[in-house]
Parts: sequence; structure tokens; C-alpha cells
Amino acid sequence: MKTELSGGTVRCSYKVSGAGQWGYFNKHQCSRKAAVNRPDGAFCKQHDPDVKQAKRNARAAKWDAEYKQLGVAKKDATVGLWMRENKPEQYNEIDEKLRETETQGNN
Ligand SMILES: [Zn+2]
Repeated sequence: MKTELSGGTVRCSYKVSGAGQWGYFNKHQCSRKAAVNRPDGAFCKQHDPDVKQAKRNARAAKWDAEYKQLGVAKKDATVGLWMRENKPEQYNEIDEKLRETETQGNN
């Protein structure tokens, strides 16, 4: 695995999925330069595991708030699944809303 770019710049060690249906099996290394050092290696800002985890937590918290509003007594990650099965329309609506806020947060 190539870990350095020209000039001694450390390369992000994240494995990016390839395009298409079998992309998961055709992973390639991220080509951006690393910005942070984590126990698992060096990563660019986009692939920082800490940031990804923080986003997941934020998303779970949003789901939490949404299902409390609906009065659904489910916990964390299962909420999304419950919603998808029992209230698919609301699930799509909320999911879209969350995606929008996530995209805005990236700017
Ligand atoms: Zn990266």
C-alpha cells in the first residue's frame, strides 16, 4: 500500500469503494493527502474516523428526537429500521431531511 505522496506527504489510508454494483469488492486507496493521525492510520479530513463517528452519533440523536415526537418507543439504530418497515413514507421524509442537514453541515 502506498502511504506517501510526492514530497513526503502522507496519504490517506482509507479504502474507497469503487463504482457500480460490485464497488465494495473493488476498493482503492483514497488519493487525498492525510490531515489527521488516528490509531488506525492517517486520514484526510473527509475520512477521519472520529468525524465519521461524530456524524453517526449526530444522526442517531436526530432519529432519537424524531421518534420521540412520534411517540415511538424504540432505541437508537433500530428506530430507522422500525420506521422503514412501519412508516415508510415518514421514514423517507425524515431521512431526506437529515441528509439535507448533513450536506449543509459539510460546507
Ligand atoms: Zn481520504
